[in-house]
This record gives sequence, structure tokens and C-alpha cells, in this order.
Amino acid sequence: MISESTTYSRDTYTVLAAIKRGLKRTCPHCGNGRIFKGYLKTSDCSNCAAPTGAIRADDLPPYLTIFLVGHIIIPLLLIVETHYHPALWLQMSVWPALTLILTLTFLPFIKGGAVGLMWYLKLNGDEQH
Ligand SMILES: [Zn+2]
Repeated sequence: MISESTTYSRDTYTVLAAIKRGLKRTCPHCGNGRIFKGYLKTSDCSNCAAPTGAIRADDLPPYLTIFLVGHIIIPLLLIVETHYHPALWLQMSVWPALTLILTLTFLPFIKGGAVGLMWYLKLNGDEQH
């Protein structure tokens, strides 16, 4: 539990609103402040000082990113192979590069969404079971 977060009421927004705000890389609480101070490093909200910097999303963002990118790349790869049969060297160049680009593009936004979800659920990633 985030001790400071108990003073931030979640009654005025839904979990989907918190996730959407996070997906935009903005504060899940106020929707205005920035919660990243780099590519993936979280920080406290620059607007309302919500302690989002303490939230550790761990493996969820990479898992969701791999899931999403896989569901984009694999169908594209199969469609292109079925219809155009491009040369192997071309496929070995394009698909890994496209996978890397999509992964690095989606990851920070998906991490924002994961932080938004965790914020709403009052989790910070170090809970013990
Ligand atoms: Zn905020």
C-alpha cells in the first residue's frame, strides 16, 4: 500500500479513466501532470504530487507489450508471406526491426497504463502475499 496515496481519493474517476490517463503518460489521479522523468523512469506527479514514482510495474508492461506486438507482427508476417513471398533476407531484416520499433514505441505508454491501474488499485509493486 502507498501510505501517501490514501489521501488521494479515487471516487471522482473510474479505473478506466486512470488507465487512459496513464496510457497518455500523464498522472492517473489529476490527468495533467507528467509521471515520467525519462523513457521509463516514473516520478511523482508534476502537477498534484501524487506519489506515482513509488509504483513499480515490474513485468506487466513488457508482458503486455510483447502480447500486443506479437498480435500485430505475426498476422502481418503471415499475410505478407502468403501473398508476396518476399526474399528471406528481406524478411530477416524487416520483421525484427519492425518488432523492435513497435516494442520500444509501445512500452512507455503501456507502462503508463499499468501505473494508472496500479495507482487506482493502491498498489506499488512491493506487496507480499
Ligand atoms: Zn497528478
